[in-house]
Amino acid sequence: MKICVLVKEVPDAAVTKRIDPSTGRLDRGGEKNLNPYDTHAIEAAMQLKEGGEVQVDEIIAVTMGPGSAVRALHKAVSLGADRSVHLSDDALAGSDVAATGYALAQTLKRESPDLVLLGQQSDDGECYTIGAVVADHLQMPSLTQVIKMDVSDGGLRCERQAEYGYDTVQVELPAVISVGDAINEPRYPSLKAIMGAKKKPLDALGTGDVEIDASRVGTDGSQVECGNFKAPPAKSAGLIIEDEDTNETVEKIVAWLDERKLI
Ligand SMILES: Cc1cc2nc3c(=O)[nH]c(=O)nc-3n(C[C@H](O)[C@H](O)[C@H](O)COP(=O)(O)OP(=O)(O)OC[C@H]3O[C@@H](n4cnc5c(N)ncnc54)[C@H](O)[C@@H]3O)c2cc1C
Repeated sequence: MKICVLVKEVPDAAVTKRIDPSTGRLDRGGEKNLNPYDTHAIEAAMQLKEGGEVQVDEIIAVTMGPGSAVRALHKAVSLGADRSVHLSDDALAGSDVAATGYALAQTLKRESPDLVLLGQQSDDGECYTIGAVVADHLQMPSLTQVIKMDVSDGGLRCERQAEYGYDTVQVELPAVISVGDAINEPRYPSLKAIMGAKKKPLDALGTGDVEIDASRVGTDGSQVECGNFKAPPAKSAGLIIEDEDTNETVEKIVAWLDERKLI
């Protein structure tokens, strides 16, 4: 079995999310990291490989992103992927979710995977959508929010989290599965794996290598137009009441709440 895991480089969780006023899009500058949700997808692939119930020949980390995204691929490899694929091209900049899903699907076609795994959401865009878009282009079944995956009857028996409880679904392969973060506890990479990650094979591809129709990607190939986003108004500073005399403090708090008709 060949498993491709989609991974994305995102701004580090400690970086405050800001809209770039010149483009109306998310400012993706600053410190970056591998999307934490994708570490669950890599771990799920590793557990299938190590579980021994099915022979997993290769785990391949695949990303679409700028040059810096190579670090996310190194991290994915340090977590267990055997090699990685980096789709990067100026023509892809500004792609919306439909264009990104199309470009990723074209890249995946080159690998003919038996299973595509991905995270439930990216930590920056948070569209929760790429899995379905990729599956549609690949004409494969799509399952989302999967929190348990067992090899069964030549396919996978999956449990997916829903608003009303859990669905149990038997899926034939090939399939595209986005995993929920409750599926597993991702491992930490060993120092040896971190050191060795840069030596693992990495295919750097452009749009021409994967037959991407340039009119379907990038800003011009995207249907979504960003509106007039604005940062939320700054919160006014709160009132701090020093507790020097408890009775007086309680009186002040009650008066403050009363003034605002909160009690
Ligand atoms: C008009 C517009 C312009 C945009 N321009 C840019 C831009 O220039 N640069 C940019 O980075 N983003 C850009 N985006 C955002 C980009 O399109 C989204 O990141 C992308 O659509 C995926 O959505 P998401 O990140 O919310 O993924 P979700 O659907 O929330 O992610 C689910 C999973 O999909 C996988 N995944 C998502 N994105 C990738 C990827 N790129 N490579 C591999 N796996 C992935 C991951 O496994 C992730 O866990 C733009 C969006 C819009 C609307």
